[in-house]
Amino acid sequence: MSVTPTNSKYGINYLGNKNTTEVHRLANEKPQCQIDEILTAGNAVKFIPDTLEEAHNNGYDNCAYCIGGSRR
Ligand SMILES: [Zn+2]
Repeated sequence: MSVTPTNSKYGINYLGNKNTTEVHRLANEKPQCQIDEILTAGNAVKFIPDTLEEAHNNGYDNCAYCIGGSRR
């Protein structure tokens, strides 16, 4: 189980922003998520396994736009 840098949003379900420690669900991506900006800034991470639970276990919080239910 781990968090690892990624430079692509393809082939994964969840993408994290290591700068804000927020996790996004790509199947429900919204413009407000700024996924491309996260990738361009080099802040994108993926989770192994690629699940919301794994993101939470690593301290990532739900994006308000594509997941909702922020815990912060
Ligand atoms: Zn989002």
